[in-house]
Amino acid sequence: MPELPEVETIKRELKSFLINKSFIGVKLENKKIIGYPNPRDFLKNIINKKILDIDRKGKFLIFKLSNNYNLTFHLRLSGRLIYKENPKEEVKYTRIMFLLNKGSLVFSEPRLLGRVYLYHDNKLPESLSLLKNLGKEPIMSEFNFQYLKEKIKNRNSSIKSLLLDQKIASGVGNIYSDEALFCAQIHPKRKGSSLKDEEIKKLVRCLKKVIKRAIKEKGTSISDYLRPNGKEGSFQNYLKIFKREGENCFRCNEKIMRIKINNRSSYFCPGCQKEV
Ligand SMILES: [Zn+2]
Repeated sequence: MPELPEVETIKRELKSFLINKSFIGVKLENKKIIGYPNPRDFLKNIINKKILDIDRKGKFLIFKLSNNYNLTFHLRLSGRLIYKENPKEEVKYTRIMFLLNKGSLVFSEPRLLGRVYLYHDNKLPESLSLLKNLGKEPIMSEFNFQYLKEKIKNRNSSIKSLLLDQKIASGVGNIYSDEALFCAQIHPKRKGSSLKDEEIKKLVRCLKKVIKRAIKEKGTSISDYLRPNGKEGSFQNYLKIFKREGENCFRCNEKIMRIKINNRSSYFCPGCQKEV
């Protein structure tokens, strides 16, 4: 959390507030929040620079600045980006605040795991090398049966872990992998190599369906995620499996279970997602 639909929503909504605004100051509350470079260079290369565009790659949010630098946010588990018209309004767990020529952008992060990076277009920092190696996103047309089959056919890891691998399904996290596996009626512990062609096709369709719907609903607000205007998304109202342990399956009425796979919780229905 947040995953592709949440970061996409943040991107779309921040664009309406921030395009063509310039940074006039930075208030750093905790220097750990800056992943790259050091606070001094960070400040030097951001002041008076204009935000030309905001892009998203997987779960990364990338601001394109007028000096060909990228200001990249990785929100990890609990990071939030909030736009305030009045910079004097305080936001809990503010780690860094960007003052703009109108309003301010606050990066709030209770667990301090999220990071912000600033780097020139042609000099990607080591700590962001994942950006070069991200896989296709399920909402892309290139994310199709052939693509997913190629990525999982020789893999003995569970399909759940494979879907969480950002080099395979960029932007997918715990919520949408569980929802898609439920939709495709595939047990999360099945090995990648054990999936039949028909199942892979169904999983691709389900990933696209679930993620597109979640974008339409502006993401899932069940723990920390809020939109930049402080409002909630609404996909939590449409979850069919995630966080429904002990409740009845909408499809077969069996009790939904939760298991740990690689230390991550996975929700599934033992009635209609069989571990064959
Ligand atoms: Zn079921």
